[in-house]
Amino acid sequence: MDTQLHLYNTLSGSKEKFEPLNPPFVGLYVCGPTVYSDVHLGNCRTFISFDLVNRYLRHLGYKVRYVRNITDAGHLENDADEGEDKISKRARIEQLEPMEIVQQYTLDFHEKMRVFNTLAPDIEPTATGHIVEQIDIIQKIMEAGLAYEVNGSIYFDVLKYNEQERYGMLSGRKVEELISGTRTLDGQDEKRNALDFALWKKASPSHIMRWNSPWGKGFPGWHLECSVMSTKYLGETFDIHGGGMDLKFPHHECEIAQNHAAHGTHAVRYWLHGNMLTFEGTKMSKSLGNSILPDELFTGDHKLLNRGFHPMVVRFFMMQAHYRSTLDFSNEALEAAEKGYQRLMASLKILETLPETEQSDIDAGAYEAKFYAAMNDDFNSPILISHLFDLAKTINSAAEGRLKIDATTKVALLELVESFVIDVLGLQAIEESGDSDLANGLMNVILDVRARARANKDWSTSDAIRDQLAALDIVVKDGKDGATWEVKK
Ligand code: AMP
Ligand code: ZN
Repeated sequence: MDTQLHLYNTLSGSKEKFEPLNPPFVGLYVCGPTVYSDVHLGNCRTFISFDLVNRYLRHLGYKVRYVRNITDAGHLENDADEGEDKISKRARIEQLEPMEIVQQYTLDFHEKMRVFNTLAPDIEPTATGHIVEQIDIIQKIMEAGLAYEVNGSIYFDVLKYNEQERYGMLSGRKVEELISGTRTLDGQDEKRNALDFALWKKASPSHIMRWNSPWGKGFPGWHLECSVMSTKYLGETFDIHGGGMDLKFPHHECEIAQNHAAHGTHAVRYWLHGNMLTFEGTKMSKSLGNSILPDELFTGDHKLLNRGFHPMVVRFFMMQAHYRSTLDFSNEALEAAEKGYQRLMASLKILETLPETEQSDIDAGAYEAKFYAAMNDDFNSPILISHLFDLAKTINSAAEGRLKIDATTKVALLELVESFVIDVLGLQAIEESGDSDLANGLMNVILDVRARARANKDWSTSDAIRDQLAALDIVVKDGKDGATWEVKK
């Protein structure tokens, strides 16, 4: 089977054969969330896209070290070098400690990632846990003569760097054009050039999150943490760096420059960028007010939604688009995804029950080759899903007796479904019974406690249980053979 992966490297702008630096090990770094608010569906799409990348690399047998950071300091409003830190601002408004904000939204993020069945990263480093390393790299960049200090803040000297290495190599931008597109500095500005970016900012008296440094109390610039944490855990040169398309510039461009200035190398071999989730063609984002939170989508409790959808339907919806294409969110698109998902999973389930014959009209090897070809072509999950629909049709024909399947083919197909649907696409059957088994078990326990209370003539306990269940729309009926229950429609 051809298991050679090709991936689209944003740096070269072309598909390349994937050859890890040190096989079978693969270093994968993905920019994580800034934990100052709930993650919205757009954010989730990027993390789900890279979950597919992580899962497929593992499926191919690579030993992946997946590092995804938590930005818990240094990300200023509007991604700029001025303004308030996003986390500090939220802490001030909610009258909480910044670390309470960080904890709250990190937990929320983890819960969302769990619900979408993403694999946890192997290391999840935080910016605040790596202040010392950030100060170290700033010193290296200063020693290289590519950063300068002004009033306790340190800025990266983009023009000087650009004399040695091209600034803009990832996003295809040219420094001259960038300069003409930026405002000219007024006398108040500390920077030598508007393109320069902060590596360290002096903390104003009101800035809560601050650390000691050789330049006084301050905090790191946002771009720095990813340079530091990726190379600390994956090495000064590592395989894959990913993130959303919107991070290409300036965030990733700055990462490249910082790493090269400090270590003299280009840290990342393959840059991968996931495209945006849009709503009516506009990027879903908190600041534009068109974002939907995962919980709102699950419950349907949002003005843009007709009803709720299961997390697996949402994941399937995302997998039906290639990670480098934009994906437009709409009620209709989700309804179609839901129908497709149910149809697909129902057919795949029939596979187990197909009667076996001596001979087979079905070629499992041909499906395997197609599945690998799709995924080896830059993780093309929509093509994989279209082959899965073909397989579903074949299974339905076999179920209707129009095609024969032998035992070996059946086992091979069951293994393929397990690998590609469950392991690679990360999809799970929507098991109604899982929940209802649990509910039945819990209700048996509750009704047993109530029966004992009644036997002891403890009417207040038995009534309290009945009333509290009634408040949850669960009706308990006492009969000759004990109590039964049902959910009020
Ligand atoms: P942030 O917390 O804003 O730094 O974003 C976390 C991740 O979500 C980044 O990789 C962004 O590129 C990504 N992201 C933000 N908005 C969207 C969107 N509408 N669609 C897909 N990814 C997004
Ligand atoms: Zn980053």
